[in-house]
Amino acid sequence: MATPVTPVIRRSLANTGRIRCRNLQRQRSFQTKVTQSKIPNFGFAFDIDGVLVRSSTPIPGAHKALSYLQDERIPFVLLTNGGGKSEEERVRDLQEKLDVPLDTGMFLQSHTPFANLKQYHDKTVLVVGGDHDKCQRVAQGYGYKNVVTPGDIYTAYPDIWPFGKPFEEVYKAFAKPPPKPINLESPPDSLKIDAIFVYNDPRDWGLDASLILDLMLSEQGILGTLSKKNGDSSLPNNGYLQDGQPALYYSNPDLWWASSYHLNRLGQGGFQFAFDGLWNAVTGGAKLEKTTIGKPTQATYEYAENLLRQHRKKIWGPVGLNDPLKRVYMVGDNPESDIQGANNYQSPHGSDWTSVLVKTGVWKEGQEPSHKPDIIHENVSEAVQWAVEDARKRGSA
Ligand SMILES: [Mg+2]
Repeated sequence: MATPVTPVIRRSLANTGRIRCRNLQRQRSFQTKVTQSKIPNFGFAFDIDGVLVRSSTPIPGAHKALSYLQDERIPFVLLTNGGGKSEEERVRDLQEKLDVPLDTGMFLQSHTPFANLKQYHDKTVLVVGGDHDKCQRVAQGYGYKNVVTPGDIYTAYPDIWPFGKPFEEVYKAFAKPPPKPINLESPPDSLKIDAIFVYNDPRDWGLDASLILDLMLSEQGILGTLSKKNGDSSLPNNGYLQDGQPALYYSNPDLWWASSYHLNRLGQGGFQFAFDGLWNAVTGGAKLEKTTIGKPTQATYEYAENLLRQHRKKIWGPVGLNDPLKRVYMVGDNPESDIQGANNYQSPHGSDWTSVLVKTGVWKEGQEPSHKPDIIHENVSEAVQWAVEDARKRGSA
């Protein structure tokens, strides 16, 4: 492991709380300077939770690291398995917390790639997870025209989840009538869900799991029906998922995340495992078709690299295209997502990715990382300083 180089100026940002933008007064913070006669052919991808912020508090050194990169015009993107808000809202929040100018073109949340699934934009989809109707509004912002939440369905049909009382007032505050009723007399006029998207961590696991299970056992995604093919051993998969049930998408597989509590908390991956167990118990082990995006998947890293390439072009202009991006440093706190993703990623553009694990989040010193990073550093500030030195040694800057 390399010994981190000490920054010339140590400007602690601990406990800064809410801070105003003061970029004009920014000080240069690192010894290393990039030679400006050559466009840097490297860049960065940063995880957010556990790297730049922890819950709503900035992590010391995060402002310094990002400010330095912006001063030096070294491109970076933020790549998070978080979500639950629009990209615009999340960027605004983060910009205020970190006191650096950011824009949505350098920002990828776990559900951002759902925007590209245009085949569902005109269909009816169930959007699960997040606070209130925020994810519903995010999906609408992506172009989805008919977005239903579990809260909408529960408010219209409270009998669908007999233990929903504690959430009733919460749901009533935002629920809208579903586009169609549950009408089993006339299935074509009944509520039919074509795809299920888990955008963010489910808040009401019981209701959410019940509705997803209902739909995965239904006839063609018509809520309230039960496919007659279920359990038919003459059919593939014992008849399960053979009757036009909706596609199921998860935005990320994270089992754990680092919140403000001292122990890691269950993330969306926890719900996935719980639902898988439920599905196994109900179907006797039938295969569950599902798609999971987010880190560490190839698709999400590819999306991030494209953003990084576009951002680099924005900073340097088309001239940068003659000197392609050769190396990306992925700085993350989670070996399962950040490090595994960077280690396994096969860039279609030929770039090499270096995985950098920091000690400020999910991973704790003394544990064997489940996926070995290329290097470990104390925090994002030291990681950036090391990476710029590393790139310089490799002749990248
Ligand atoms: Mg993280």
